[in-house]
Amino acid sequence: MDTISRLDPPVTVQNHSPLKVLVVLAHPERHSFNGAMADAAIETLRGLSHQVAFSDLYRMGWDPVSDRRNFKGVKNPDYFKQQTEEDHATETRTFAPDVEAEIAKMEAADLMIWQFPLWWFSVPGILKGWVDKVFAFNRVYGRGRFYEKGLYRGKRALLSLTTGGSGAAAYQPGGFNGDISGILRPIQRGMLEFVGYDVLKPQIVHGPAQVTDEQRKAYLAAWRERLIQIAQEEPIVVGQY
Ligand SMILES: Cc1cc2nc3c(=O)[nH]c(=O)nc-3n(C[C@H](O)[C@H](O)[C@H](O)COP(=O)(O)OP(=O)(O)OC[C@H]3O[C@@H](n4cnc5c(N)ncnc54)[C@H](O)[C@@H]3O)c2cc1C
Repeated sequence: MDTISRLDPPVTVQNHSPLKVLVVLAHPERHSFNGAMADAAIETLRGLSHQVAFSDLYRMGWDPVSDRRNFKGVKNPDYFKQQTEEDHATETRTFAPDVEAEIAKMEAADLMIWQFPLWWFSVPGILKGWVDKVFAFNRVYGRGRFYEKGLYRGKRALLSLTTGGSGAAAYQPGGFNGDISGILRPIQRGMLEFVGYDVLKPQIVHGPAQVTDEQRKAYLAAWRERLIQIAQEEPIVVGQY
């Protein structure tokens, strides 16, 4: 029967149209394992002819503080109310250039990947500050456009994160830190699904600093392998609160 394998057509992994992908990296050390995961994603996806934009928040000097500086000018100089100003900036196209650039990257992308270390059971502050500024009222969500009716429906998002402890068991229901699905729900439901994204299964590397170099390389290889078929993946059920 070995003739069958010799007669098999060559395996083609790219049976899809190119995606536009945005990778957002939130780690202060470029040579961190998170940095390597971001590089693996960018190289793999570009190697498959997908278009990849990259927001490396620390190296961009992204300012996570959300205030009047989100805008070129404000509608009400006497009292700052962010959503009122976001509404105004949407109508008048007056977001500050750094905010506008990030919104434009998100609007262009079919798939968004966030690469980050789990910090205090959440995203690092720099990434939370990116969301605070970029997920803007009336431009990204609002006026009845939430969840299934969200402006970003049809787009997909994926959290790729690392943890400090070495074992996945600590993040199971009843485990030391509790169910990782519940920990990620404010992000996957309260941010991503809120604006309409379909959420793909999170990529979680537990304790990259606690394992061997060989194991880390295996984690990177598994990530690359998953990304080859990412266009075909179905969203997960994130669950409500
Ligand atoms: C403020 C704060 C809050 C935190 N809160 C939590 C929390 O709530 N829950 C929790 O679980 N953890 C928490 N942690 C821990 C944190 O999540 C981990 O330290 C982090 O996820 C580890 O990932 P890293 O990229 O920083 O690893 P690194 O320490 O940067 O990397 C691990 C190792 O990988 C190596 N490496 C880099 N590139 C490669 C490559 N290409 N191939 C092979 N090896 C490579 C590095 O050299 C290093 O030796 C917290 C940490 C901080 C600072």
